[in-house]
Amino acid sequence: MASQSTSPTSDTKSKVITTFLDQPTFACAQCAATIALQDELISKAFSGRDGRGYLIHSAVNLKMGKREDRALLTGVHTVADVYCMGCNDRMGWYYHKASDSSQKYKEGKYLLEREKLVKENKWKLDD
Ligand SMILES: [Zn+2]
Repeated sequence: MASQSTSPTSDTKSKVITTFLDQPTFACAQCAATIALQDELISKAFSGRDGRGYLIHSAVNLKMGKREDRALLTGVHTVADVYCMGCNDRMGWYYHKASDSSQKYKEGKYLLEREKLVKENKWKLDD
């Protein structure tokens, strides 16, 4: 009587963008949701919370968390953590504001944790 199906429903998938035509992308390491175009990468020389981070112009399939002031290596920034829409994993943060004028270029950009991302082909990133 209790027919509990484990097959995924189509509603949860419909809001996740899974392709950008043929452009190379970064995807969530957990659920393979597309997160950003590799062309949108600004710098790989950033620090995430636990490891290396990527600074990226724009991203998709991310939910914005609570906005807060955080003391980072480069000064106080107003940031919000961002979460994957596919699996809710924390992917990094979004820079709302930087207090130091030399850091203003980060405003409106995303810092994504390198270890949370895979390239479109699912290979591990190695630099
Ligand atoms: Zn995900």
